[in-house]
Amino acid sequence: MYEHLKKQDPAIYKAILAETKRQEEGLELIPSEIAASAAVIEALGSVLTNKYSEGYPGKRYYGGQENIDTIEEIAQERAKKLFGVPHANVQPYSGSPANLAVYVAVCAPGDVVLGQNLPDGGHLTHGWKASATSIFYKTIGYHVKEDGYLDLEEIERLAKKHKPKLIWVGATAYVREFPFEKMAKIADKVGAYLAADIAHIAGLVISGAHKSPAKFAHIITTTTHKTLRGPRGGIIMVTYKGLKKDPELAKKIDQAIFPRLQGGPHDHQTAAIAVALGEAMKPSFKTYGRQVVKNAKALAKSLMVRGVKIVTDGTDNHMILIKCGKGRGVFLQDALDAAGITLNKNTIPKDPSSPFYPSGVRLGTPFITVRGMKEKEMDKLADWIAQVMEEIKDFQFPSDKSKIKPTFIKFRKFVAGNNELKKIKSEVKKLCAKFPLYKDMK
Ligand SMILES: *Cc1c(COP(=O)(O)O)cnc(C)c1O
Repeated sequence: MYEHLKKQDPAIYKAILAETKRQEEGLELIPSEIAASAAVIEALGSVLTNKYSEGYPGKRYYGGQENIDTIEEIAQERAKKLFGVPHANVQPYSGSPANLAVYVAVCAPGDVVLGQNLPDGGHLTHGWKASATSIFYKTIGYHVKEDGYLDLEEIERLAKKHKPKLIWVGATAYVREFPFEKMAKIADKVGAYLAADIAHIAGLVISGAHKSPAKFAHIITTTTHKTLRGPRGGIIMVTYKGLKKDPELAKKIDQAIFPRLQGGPHDHQTAAIAVALGEAMKPSFKTYGRQVVKNAKALAKSLMVRGVKIVTDGTDNHMILIKCGKGRGVFLQDALDAAGITLNKNTIPKDPSSPFYPSGVRLGTPFITVRGMKEKEMDKLADWIAQVMEEIKDFQFPSDKSKIKPTFIKFRKFVAGNNELKKIKSEVKKLCAKFPLYKDMK
């Protein structure tokens, strides 16, 4: 692998090798990450990156499209079949541009849009104040209850009061099944479009481990690089229900992507998406998706047995939110990092602190499941996480702002010199060696 890169650009070559080693020797628990297959990575690294193909199959603005059209049509057909929808656009550069295209397709500037509040688990693009979506549209956030479940009563109340044009369902940090049917009832009552953003759970929907939104939403968006196990990218789908509400909806979505928001599609990415969707059609993908959830449930249980507190006392999907005390998410994230376990700090429902110093961490099982890890390894992992929490239990987040910096200096020093964390890191490395990545790519 990489023979040309090695000769021509040693700095980049070395960094790629070092990153490969980091991914191989540690436990990647960030729930939005996964190891794509070697075939996906080959398609992504192909000469397709050389091509310009603005437009859609059969309707392009450049010549020489016979192979690109084949590739894009295969990707579209596979997406439609897997999700049971009549229309799929596979050109979004990623999940965020896919979501922006939905706004552009169905809203006029200033229209009201309802989405899950970011500190409650929602995504930036669902209308959070730091996102451009809140500049161009009147975005209103809904919340989860104290118990971590969506507050459906509040959602209905907000929908009736503000009459949104578009309602989002889907999130980036939510551990329970999305109530697509109930959200559809609310959207239908007020005449809103319902867009289901299944970025995190697309692979689970395909494998039957999470209910599909196809019967309930008008539009479905997803990323392709999370549980779907493809390259970085996005897909927007229009359902039969969507076409019934608005026969022009598919056309509006396609126009929103090109020419309104994007230029030429990333054809190498489209090919890699097609490959990933091909993999998702195999029976083995169902086994993988179900194991992702089994592993998350096993890990949640093993953590709780060890006294670790988690949001909603369990999970329905691939994700777990650990509650680790006011403002202490960064401590746990950094200490686990030193032990070879990667996850991210995250807010918890009604977080008493802030998104920058949240009171929880978010972790997930997709990456370690594609490596072949099962329930037995989840128990070991829970053990390590509980041990790390014990190691750092004396560090509290200061309520006095001027103490934050000195506290972190002290904490980092403690972590760097802690032998228990070093010991766990070497045990993690040993476990990972038994579950190699990319055996066939070296
Ligand atoms: C990850 C994610 C996105 C955005 O995807 P990017 O590819 O990072 O732009 C959108 N919505 C949800 C719910 C996500 O989890």
